[in-house]
Amino acid sequence: MNSNTFLENLKDVPFIFEAELSLYTTYRVGGVTEVLALPETEEQVKHLISFTKQHKVPFRVLGLGSNILVSDLGLRGITCCLRNFRDIKIDDNSVTATAGTALDEVVRETINAGLAGLENLSGIPGSVGGAVFMNAGAFKTETFDKLKSFKVLTDKGEIKKFRKEDVKYEYRKVWGIENCVILSATWVLDKQDKEILKARREEILQSRTAKQPLEYPSAGSVFKRPVGAYASKLIDDCGLRGLSVGGAQVSTKHAGFIINYQNATAQDIYDLIKKVQKIVKEKTGFKLEPEQIFWGEFK
Ligand SMILES: Cc1cc2nc3c(=O)[nH]c(=O)nc-3n(C[C@H](O)[C@H](O)[C@H](O)COP(=O)(O)OP(=O)(O)OC[C@H]3O[C@@H](n4cnc5c(N)ncnc54)[C@H](O)[C@@H]3O)c2cc1C
Repeated sequence: MNSNTFLENLKDVPFIFEAELSLYTTYRVGGVTEVLALPETEEQVKHLISFTKQHKVPFRVLGLGSNILVSDLGLRGITCCLRNFRDIKIDDNSVTATAGTALDEVVRETINAGLAGLENLSGIPGSVGGAVFMNAGAFKTETFDKLKSFKVLTDKGEIKKFRKEDVKYEYRKVWGIENCVILSATWVLDKQDKEILKARREEILQSRTAKQPLEYPSAGSVFKRPVGAYASKLIDDCGLRGLSVGGAQVSTKHAGFIINYQNATAQDIYDLIKKVQKIVKEKTGFKLEPEQIFWGEFK
């Protein structure tokens, strides 16, 4: 498909032709996407879905790119980044936010409104859509804990609302929504003194700064917590802190993170992930499963 076809068909949807995905992902690596669409409304997302279906164009949804490793070879088709589809509405003790809203902004706004339940998610650098998609969590709290419902656009272009009890979810996994675009989410929270909530947020943000290598590009914890162990402890016990491939390194500050230490390529990061998995398996028997998502081709 050439640029004119996109220009003709996507004229109402803001988009960039041949956009560098390293600018839209927190690892700061990855090649070029043929088209980066940046819809601002539900109608624009709908239009994109019907266009891609009609023309059989590959389609991917990107939130804030904080859990994705994009191949250096780039991506065909449309990457639909929702970062400009942002809105938060608070009504009494319920909050609804559109998918591209930063989760941390929702946390801040609810704390300011004296609403408790999301404060432990402070500092997660993803979007509302990304958080719902994989039930992001921290400090013994998950996105789904206080979630009431969420709205999606199905791959058939239909709007559907899921109540929490309609879906199966677990640690970092939600079933049955793989082909949906999450449009918004609603949480029902508890009223609480906002000064207490602000103090809790501060404590969490300080703990993140102290323990995580936030001074380097990364996509957070690389691996899921295996049953009966902690990924970062296993990696540490195998002596892998500081292990590197090209410009990618197992963080010396938090062994569960791989950082873009010095101009890493996506392939460096991918190779390091594989190397860590292999060594941990050989030395401990644990099979580490990536929490992060790989897009495109890797060798
Ligand atoms: C420094 C750092 C710390 C982190 N700490 C944590 C943590 O404590 N806990 C935690 O759980 N995670 C953590 N993460 C990982 C990440 O922030 C979360 O996984 C977050 O939920 C990803 O959201 P995103 O918008 O960036 O998703 P993206 O990375 O953009 O996408 C991730 C996946 O979600 C899908 N997706 C995104 N938006 C939508 C949508 N609207 N509809 C359908 N699918 C969608 C994408 O297609 C992709 O498959 C951390 C990351 C970093 C860099």
